[in-house]
Amino acid sequence: MTTRTTTNNTAYTEKAPEKCVNRGTLPVKIGALFLSLLVLAVVSLGIAQAPTVRFIDANGKTLAEVQAQYQNGKVYLPVDAVKQVIDPAATHQYNHPRQRLTLKTKDKQIRLQMRRPTFNIDPDGQTVTLSTPPIIIAQQPMLPIDFFIQLLPILNDVEVIYNSSLNRLQIRPKETLTPIETSGTQDIRIIVDPGHGGPEDRGSAGSTGVLEKDIVLALAKQLQWTSKQHSIQLHLTRETDTEKTHFERIQVAKQNRGQLFLSLHCNASFSPYQKGIRIYVNNPKGQLRFPSTTKPALMGQRLKILAQADYLKQSKDFAYALQTELNFLTETPIQIIDLPLIPLSDAYMPAVVLELGYLSNVEDLERLSNSEYMANIAQAITRAFQRYISSINQNASPTVSEQ
Ligand SMILES: [Zn+2]
Repeated sequence: MTTRTTTNNTAYTEKAPEKCVNRGTLPVKIGALFLSLLVLAVVSLGIAQAPTVRFIDANGKTLAEVQAQYQNGKVYLPVDAVKQVIDPAATHQYNHPRQRLTLKTKDKQIRLQMRRPTFNIDPDGQTVTLSTPPIIIAQQPMLPIDFFIQLLPILNDVEVIYNSSLNRLQIRPKETLTPIETSGTQDIRIIVDPGHGGPEDRGSAGSTGVLEKDIVLALAKQLQWTSKQHSIQLHLTRETDTEKTHFERIQVAKQNRGQLFLSLHCNASFSPYQKGIRIYVNNPKGQLRFPSTTKPALMGQRLKILAQADYLKQSKDFAYALQTELNFLTETPIQIIDLPLIPLSDAYMPAVVLELGYLSNVEDLERLSNSEYMANIAQAITRAFQRYISSINQNASPTVSEQ
């Protein structure tokens, strides 16, 4: 949030227990050696078990839970998972000496070779490249999660989203993802506002040195790209690391005749335990939750803020769309908070502030620094744009105005 001051996050960093055993006594050394040998044995035997991978549908309902295994930080599923997830009638053959796996499902034959990062689909003659090859763990062929991510959309008309931190894989119909490319739809011009910027206004900072202004700008640029793919009109209030006043940001929104304003921020708290995404709706009559020091400024602008109330319903509609899409990426349901957002009081359009997480929380900081997670966030926000635009188009009366 722009009104919040940067807090010193380094104070919250808990030191990991020292791993060094050099100064230990001999029994400690032997104990540590034994332990590391045990760990090595467990890892090399492939016994290290990951939690189950949960396959869910578009509404979050569990379709299947599959026991996974980790090897070198990668997630693998047993071949039987194909039956659980893709096709109960699927069959497979594994040639041990040649380390070749053949799967048969839905008139297709899929051929894989262990340790080779491609697979073939017949009779199409299609070759698909995997980020991780299939491997053998405990003498059994194991399929990387990427195999399922790639194969599912080929066999069915679905999109797959994998959340590695939650071990969740969502399978959703493709048609729900592209609702806006129909004739007669109203285009909505969206303004994305990466908070802060420039050398003075850095926003919050994580203990690793990562800055809010950089995280939100990188995400805004990703949004610019993903929106373009889906023909969504999107403008950024800043495209570089430059300082912009609230007034200048609103001017950009007005000049581009924006119809939806999304401001991106990261949170910070004195408590290292505060974490998670928050969605703030610009509600002039919402419960005041700003620190007391900002109250006088609010009082002075009361009349201006009230004009924003006209857009409350649309702001909430977009907030719900964001909540629906982003909930998939989080452990706990995301809250929507009504708030008079002073910096947006002059933006006469639906406005929402998205706080992506707490840079003062170790887990959030890790997520916000992970490019895969941020790409998922960008995809989720883009889908929220689509959801919002299609809801506007559904609500808009298609009848010709009577003279
Ligand atoms: Zn901020």
